[in-house]
Amino acid sequence: MTAAVLGIDVGGTKLACGRVTGDGRLTAVRRTATPPGEDPETVWRALADLVDAVGAEGPYDAIGIGCGGPMRWPDGVVSPLNLPAWRGFPLLERVRARFGGGRPVRIHNDAVAYALGEARWGAGRGAAHVLGMVVSTGVGGGLVLGGRPVDGATGNAGHIGHVVAEPGGPRCGCGGRGCLEAVARGPAIAADAVARGWTGDPDAQAVAAGARAGDRAALAAYARAGQALGTVLAGVVALLDLEVVSVGGGVAQAGAPLWDPLRSAFAAQARLHYTRGVRVVPAGLGPYAGVVGAAALVLPPPVPASLLESSLTRGVDDDSSRDAGKRSGA
Ligand SMILES: [Zn+2]
Repeated sequence: MTAAVLGIDVGGTKLACGRVTGDGRLTAVRRTATPPGEDPETVWRALADLVDAVGAEGPYDAIGIGCGGPMRWPDGVVSPLNLPAWRGFPLLERVRARFGGGRPVRIHNDAVAYALGEARWGAGRGAAHVLGMVVSTGVGGGLVLGGRPVDGATGNAGHIGHVVAEPGGPRCGCGGRGCLEAVARGPAIAADAVARGWTGDPDAQAVAAGARAGDRAALAAYARAGQALGTVLAGVVALLDLEVVSVGGGVAQAGAPLWDPLRSAFAAQARLHYTRGVRVVPAGLGPYAGVVGAAALVLPPPVPASLLESSLTRGVDDDSSRDAGKRSGA
């Protein structure tokens, strides 16, 4: 049984590292602001100092890393959009060389790590089929099916932000139009509110406060984002037959102005017998969800209760032993 592992969360605004036990408890954690500037080694030193400090708190058996994309996966060569100092930075290799000591080290897109943490210990606890999504400056997501993270051909499965919510809608950073991200990300909500006459601070949190206070422009902007989210999610749960969708990130904390239209759009569209009852809920893990999720990448999966009750149980056992072999050889 694994005693504890390290989880590393790399973001454009903060770096964090924690020591996480097999049942998802954080026993030590540190974070620091991501150093600004273009020097890759400055960022690496800041991260290495964090890992040194947390590693000194107790033994660990493996290291999991969540990092923003894009990345060359599974090689772990990262070029996070919001961290310009790292372009083609060999993060997995660096962590393995400095801190691995022969232990397994795994990396994944931060949204996949986040989804896995939510599925194991957050809003999706006890469920085997979960979408974890983060709605903030962007809209990201990761999939856990059958209790396991889904990689996809290039490590990019789960990018729900680029499912179209409004055909012909606003231009998206990906080059397409009307993507969920182009409609529901925080800056898009703020811009939409301004276009509707909002005169307060043009950021999503201020607009959320305005919406909660009854401002019409702010309410309309959040209603549009909520409808887009609910509609896309109804399609996604129909495609994937999920049990839980966990929605985190700053925008998800807007409260009723987002969640009421989200839930009603979802209810209007999710009419199949297996989609109607899907739980679409706020994320269950706190500010260190990314750290805990990264740790989950290298912790053995518990067998989800919903699988224990089905005939799939034997397949899960087989998968677990295969994965354990893979990890010890990594
Ligand atoms: Zn897009």
